[in-house]
Amino acid sequence: MSKLRNTELKKQVSSIHSLAKQLGLSNLANHPFEMFPEQMSNEEFMIRCLKDEIAYREQRAKDRRVKQAQIPTLKTFKSFDTTFQNGITDWQLRQLAALNWIDNTFNVIFIGPPGTGKTHLALAIGNEALDHGYKVFFSGMDNLIHILKTREVSRNSAARVKWIKESQLLIIDEVGYLPIGKLEANLFFQLISSLYENTSVVITSNKGFDGWAELLGDAVLATALLDRLTHRCQVLSFTGTGWRVAHREEIFDDSLVT
Ligand code: ADP
Ligand code: MG
Repeated sequence: MSKLRNTELKKQVSSIHSLAKQLGLSNLANHPFEMFPEQMSNEEFMIRCLKDEIAYREQRAKDRRVKQAQIPTLKTFKSFDTTFQNGITDWQLRQLAALNWIDNTFNVIFIGPPGTGKTHLALAIGNEALDHGYKVFFSGMDNLIHILKTREVSRNSAARVKWIKESQLLIIDEVGYLPIGKLEANLFFQLISSLYENTSVVITSNKGFDGWAELLGDAVLATALLDRLTHRCQVLSFTGTGWRVAHREEIFDDSLVT
């Protein structure tokens, strides 16, 4: 290719890039066109550019969803052992993993002592939902309360609240470990009310429902909250000594001594 032709081409590419930028076509605005086969027709070229732009946007939206969801660990349904936990059957596990209940805005509440797999399943639900294109937000109860309390003074918190309200699934881990005050309980109630019948809520708690009045410091509020949460809801009660206790590992494990 002559030097002149080469400079001309470079100019045209740079002009396509800047026009695409003006139109907000971020992928086209950075496209290295030399990857296209030379014998493409104009129509093929156009289709290819548009398809690439769509693929790029979809990937960006997915990356954003994953980032916003704030799921701390990867846990799967597959790695959950139902022979260890009698509180859920294989069939129920498959139903949970199918996620149809999110489309029907059902809630799921896991109740049980520490180490019985509540957070494991809450995480598995979150990861599966993300994979299937749902908007998700995962938070410990403490962090959620912090977000609600600071939403008027922190842009970050305000953005999180907005995201939660747009989400199809809110997962709240460890409700009940720490008692909360009246203001916090009210904020929590308001959030759950605003999500009612729009967003599925998954909760893990070490406290049965009778303990929620004490937890929220208000029996009337607890009743109203549970009324909304449990209207369309699967409650799963887990029992046992906990996986960690049963699978405790030690540094000085006898079986390792030769
Ligand atoms: P909880 O939230 O009920 O306190 P976790 O879900 O955090 O308990 O479980 C503690 C640890 O044990 C985690 O590493 C989890 O993956 C594992 N675990 C608990 N139950 C099971 C189970 N039935 N099958 C496989 N792993 C389990
Ligand atoms: Mg937990």
